[in-house]
Amino acid sequence: MSKPTIMTVDDDPQVLAAITRDLLNQYGADYRIVRASSGREALDVLTKLTLRDELLALIAADQRMPEMTGIEMLQQAQAHVPGAKMLLLTAYADTDVAIRAINDIGLDYYLLKPWDPPEERLYPIIDDLLDDWSKAHPDQTSDVRVIGHRWSDRTHEIKMFLARNHVPYRWYDVEQDAEAERLRSLADAATSDLPLVLVPAGETLRSPSTLSLAAALGLHTSAEQPLYDLCIVGAGPAGLAAGVYAASEGLSSVIVEREAPGGQAGRSAAIENYLGFPKGLSGSDLAQRAIAQVSRFGAEMVLARDVVGFESRGPVRAVLLQDSGEIESRALIVATGVSYRRLEARGLSELTGRGVYYGTAVGEANQCQGEVVYIVGAANSAGQAALELSRFAKHVVLVVRAGTLTETMSSYLIARITTAHNIAVRYHSEVVAAHGAGHLESLTLSDTKTGTTEDAPASWLFIFIGASPRTDWLGPDIVRDERGFVVTGQDLIRPGSEQRWPLARPPFALETSVPGVFAAGDVRLDSMKRVASAVGEGAMSVYLVHRYLATI
Ligand SMILES: Cc1cc2nc3c(=O)[nH]c(=O)nc-3n(C[C@H](O)[C@H](O)[C@H](O)COP(=O)(O)OP(=O)(O)OC[C@H]3O[C@@H](n4cnc5c(N)ncnc54)[C@H](O)[C@@H]3O)c2cc1C
Repeated sequence: MSKPTIMTVDDDPQVLAAITRDLLNQYGADYRIVRASSGREALDVLTKLTLRDELLALIAADQRMPEMTGIEMLQQAQAHVPGAKMLLLTAYADTDVAIRAINDIGLDYYLLKPWDPPEERLYPIIDDLLDDWSKAHPDQTSDVRVIGHRWSDRTHEIKMFLARNHVPYRWYDVEQDAEAERLRSLADAATSDLPLVLVPAGETLRSPSTLSLAAALGLHTSAEQPLYDLCIVGAGPAGLAAGVYAASEGLSSVIVEREAPGGQAGRSAAIENYLGFPKGLSGSDLAQRAIAQVSRFGAEMVLARDVVGFESRGPVRAVLLQDSGEIESRALIVATGVSYRRLEARGLSELTGRGVYYGTAVGEANQCQGEVVYIVGAANSAGQAALELSRFAKHVVLVVRAGTLTETMSSYLIARITTAHNIAVRYHSEVVAAHGAGHLESLTLSDTKTGTTEDAPASWLFIFIGASPRTDWLGPDIVRDERGFVVTGQDLIRPGSEQRWPLARPPFALETSVPGVFAAGDVRLDSMKRVASAVGEGAMSVYLVHRYLATI
């Protein structure tokens, strides 16, 4: 396969030569660097690349060019190469135009000229953009191969696990790819062995459990120390933030995660309200940055392990892991967030994982290429999914029980959904049944105003109908409300509440009814249910852990 391309566009020959030279020096080994001296020439080159089926990773274009500005050129380029990263080279006077282009054309970054020294002002930005691009094009780099049936729930789980843990893989559908059949017979695998996972320089894994897959990929699945200062359960934004602050402040720390670091945020296609990222960033990008930060500071991560029990052993807090194993620590942060609620409708549970999915992983959306997709839900998560899936699907139908989205979804998402040419919102509607032999083939939708029902052919249904915490594993000593949210701080000792706080001192703000056990993020009663607040609570809980440790 040929190298992906980076294109530079500038009408000033000296600037064009300088940016081309700098990019060649740093990226020439892995990318082909091509140049164009006008917007028109750039679009001609792009047409040729597309015809040859070659990949374009990034365009770095000057804004001020005669005939066609950089932004006009980038906007037209999107039609040829929709996934390519777009960088605008600007003068200070064009800053406003560049910021507008972030909204108008999805510009990825603008860079003020000159960019010297490139090591500080150019390469870190390009590294980030290329990193993002490579994650969205795993076929370029992947040695892990998954061979299975498109409509198998186990195949789906394995693909989700790989995608959400940022393991690039190549996917072979046994019903559609000749190569899949070849690999299956080479591995001498029966149909019951599917899905197969081929890992580099390893054995062939036959329908592996998540834990054995994680171990084969070299992920860390057990704790190294007998006792930690701090154990954090859950690696969503709250848990990862707690990990960064705890490890950077010298606490020996371990984070346990059962699915993938990033939590719910890791499923978000675009988090646009997180401070410091004006263009927004994908949840997967945020998670990857956080994992790097956690590792840099030396917190340990134990992956693919489900925490199923909690015990207090004198001053020690212990969590029990599914199958076997436990982790002891002097303090514990519960950052387990919330999980999607199940939709009750005839036929849905049988087809879950076979066309019916709860949530969606960024990167999986391209599976729905050219097809009709139904989404149930009216909150921001459903709106984001509709926009993400509409990039690939022929048509997206958002099924909403209410008569409006305004009370449940942010206005910036509503505006984009209502102007998208291939998204329709079906108000006053519910999915009442799902049908299909082996995988989803059609849905029965009801109109809640008229009471009429209608059958519609459908292969894909994504459900986003709110979430609830799964906190049973905490046992009876940690007080929760009737929905399972963990009660903390002053709420434990509020006059009139059941008094379950055992010490003379009042509980710290995020402390639970067991001293030394804290709760942060969505799992906590009355938390804000946003990335920024989860991050804030994760960081704050570490400050409170220090205060607690000083008391024992
Ligand atoms: C699709 C989507 C889009 C969103 N978009 C935005 C947005 O744009 N802006 C915004 O501010 N917010 C957004 N949110 C909300 C935001 O993601 C959450 O508020 C935030 O992720 C909460 O973080 P958390 O760490 O508390 O919990 P979570 O993100 O839920 O993470 C909890 C983690 O704990 C793990 N876990 C749970 N139980 C166990 C166990 N027993 N053992 C081991 N691990 C366990 C889970 O696997 C998970 O990884 C979105 C949510 C979704 C679903």
